[in-house]
Amino acid sequence: MTLPEKLWIALIAIPGASIERGILYFSLAGGAWLVLHVLLARLLAGRKINPQRATWGQMSREVLYSTRSLVIYGLVTGFMVLAFFSGWTRIYTRFDQYGWTYFFVTIGLIILIHDTYFYWTHRLMHHPRLFRLFHRTHHLSTNPSPWAAYSFSPLEALVQAGIAPLVLFTLPVHPLAFTVFMVWQISFNVLGHCGYEMFPRWFVRSWCGKVLNTATHHAQHHETNRANFSLYFNWWDRLMGTNHAHYEERFSQAVGESAKQLH
Ligand SMILES: [Zn+2]
Ligand SMILES: [Zn+2]
Repeated sequence: MTLPEKLWIALIAIPGASIERGILYFSLAGGAWLVLHVLLARLLAGRKINPQRATWGQMSREVLYSTRSLVIYGLVTGFMVLAFFSGWTRIYTRFDQYGWTYFFVTIGLIILIHDTYFYWTHRLMHHPRLFRLFHRTHHLSTNPSPWAAYSFSPLEALVQAGIAPLVLFTLPVHPLAFTVFMVWQISFNVLGHCGYEMFPRWFVRSWCGKVLNTATHHAQHHETNRANFSLYFNWWDRLMGTNHAHYEERFSQAVGESAKQLH
């Protein structure tokens, strides 16, 4: 394939990828908003992490910034398509090349790699010298709605998109395995910003609560602008001592179990 041909395919892939990610974002964030914040809002009032409702102004801003992130994701995907056709990536396309076990293992592995990548880049972006430029946009929402899932500054969107080259340049991955990871990633991201605590009351005191993060965990990060930096799993925060000291109390409060004051 000639260079102009590769460039042409990469160019076409840009809007295609943005639209594809956009469909996922708008259906999942929009679905969560419609179901939790509109249809079941009364029924779930006792599960609202912060009793205040997100304003239209806040949600419009979150959608606008998320849409800008979708454009950046499209550009990064365009680059990855060029990289694939140039033979720079380790993407493989035939399932029998590595087998089904490897296929499923890579999905888990990408999630673990992303969890680590997110924790450390997130902590770095909270450094006072980097915060304004990279991460302030995301923290404009102190009581985020599901629409905040991709509400990033352009630089942060680039950092977030960095997981694709990191994985696809180093690990043999089938495109379908990466797609499954993308669906998991946006689903969990929307859950983290959904504004409602959907896990059972005992969750945070059980072993699963020591492993998996909750919506309250990330909401508390937005409320306090410190602590609770991890994404899917709680172990990096536990290991580095960055879990909020009052995480369990905040969870109990979110599920209507405790009347303790917010810290
Ligand atoms: Zn943050
Ligand atoms: Zn967030």
